[in-house]
Amino acid sequence: MADPLLDRDIAAAALAQVCAAAGPYVEALAERPVHDPAAAGSLAGIGGPLPEEGTGTTAAVDRLLAIGTATATASSGPRFFHFVTGGTTPAALAGDWTAALLDQNAFARVSSPFAHEVETVVLGWLRELFGLPAGWGGALVGSATFANFTSLGCATQWWGERHGADTVRDGLSGLPRMAVLSGGYVHASARKALQMLGHGRDAVQVCARDDVGRVDLVGIERRLIALDGAPAVLIANAGEVNAGDFDPVDALAELAERYGAWLHVDGAFGLFAALSPRSAHLVRGIDRAHSIAADAHKWLNVPYESGFALIREPGRLGTAFGMPGAAYLPGPRDPGGGYGLHGPESSRRARSLPIWATLTAYGRQGHRAMVERHLDLAQHLARRIDEAPELQRLADVPLCIVCFRVAPPGVPDEDLDRWNRAVGEALIADGRVFCGTTVYGGRVALRPAIVNWRSTVADVDLFVDVVRELAARTRAEP
Ligand SMILES: *Cc1c(COP(=O)(O)O)cnc(C)c1O
Repeated sequence: MADPLLDRDIAAAALAQVCAAAGPYVEALAERPVHDPAAAGSLAGIGGPLPEEGTGTTAAVDRLLAIGTATATASSGPRFFHFVTGGTTPAALAGDWTAALLDQNAFARVSSPFAHEVETVVLGWLRELFGLPAGWGGALVGSATFANFTSLGCATQWWGERHGADTVRDGLSGLPRMAVLSGGYVHASARKALQMLGHGRDAVQVCARDDVGRVDLVGIERRLIALDGAPAVLIANAGEVNAGDFDPVDALAELAERYGAWLHVDGAFGLFAALSPRSAHLVRGIDRAHSIAADAHKWLNVPYESGFALIREPGRLGTAFGMPGAAYLPGPRDPGGGYGLHGPESSRRARSLPIWATLTAYGRQGHRAMVERHLDLAQHLARRIDEAPELQRLADVPLCIVCFRVAPPGVPDEDLDRWNRAVGEALIADGRVFCGTTVYGGRVALRPAIVNWRSTVADVDLFVDVVRELAARTRAEP
């Protein structure tokens, strides 16, 4: 029998086991493949029947570390260019361990004055980092999906109010469908947020002027006029996932102001363009938004799960997400209350700690330097692709994503789509570098994103070399 009480004196020793494994793991990240296909077999060791008699702490932690370090996807390493992922800075990782060590419930002041205070400081720092005016507030949530949910939850409450309804109390029944307008860059998670909020994912009316998805401002304005004064929600996409392009936030803000609409900005990673004077023009106008969603686990390089919503009228958070009183819980205006009453979650970990740690360790300038290095690396990658005769770049590179495909002259389009899918699959199976495919303007393409603090020119060069090698190999196959 392994009652944890019998094992309590080895808590520090168990953490030392993790520490001992951490050193070699993080040191190897710069060199190891993203995943080792040969290690996949050891995943089987994680399963088995529910243990009846436990193995005890030491053996359990040993097994978890052995299998985990062998089979984990090295997405915190420098050669993971899939999705838009980011790594974890040393300070952020240590901050995250501290959050686990202290195991605070960041529900409210009464559950943890410490977590509440750090969260208050961090929300203020994030607001400043992105150049938003005083008075804005926010919520730390698990992801950009939840940040979109939180933002659009506030928008829904506002929209109900405009209809003279209280959606927080009464829901949506009896109201018309909420009009949500966006360009073709709108992210699947914004649709998911609308689906969770009861509007349905098809509530978004997409106004795009081409097959890439660039926003059709005239089309949006036409629909706003047709609404004849009824409230609408506009979603501006600041950083689209295929090529890192931006909707013109300023122009959408103009429309929102003219027609009295709510402007939400999905800036999951693109919001970080604000950190450099070289890219800040891409997010011009965000201070005119009503809500902004972003991820710290992407370009701030903080561990998962770290999204945040920034809200111009933070009082709406408490209105939209306050809970009806349980006798034992603080109410929304109670001095013992806190952030659990200002967002979708109630009990939650102190996810402010890694953000606090990374901003304290490296400051605004350290994070700006990282963003600018990635801007440079993306331009370097674009050049390498332009120089390779069998590769074709499909889009400009305004930020940190390079959209391209394998396309030697003379190969028909249908074959190129099949070939590029094969290259994408071969990349994942190979594991030295990581990147996936997308469909951009109707063509299958690769879309590496550079947002990891560890990435260097050598990593980007290796990426190009591996793509060219696998392109040659997959072409030879029938
Ligand atoms: C990644 C991303 C999201 C969703 O983020 P999660 O943290 O995975 O929920 C939303 N919008 C955009 C533009 C993104 O890039």
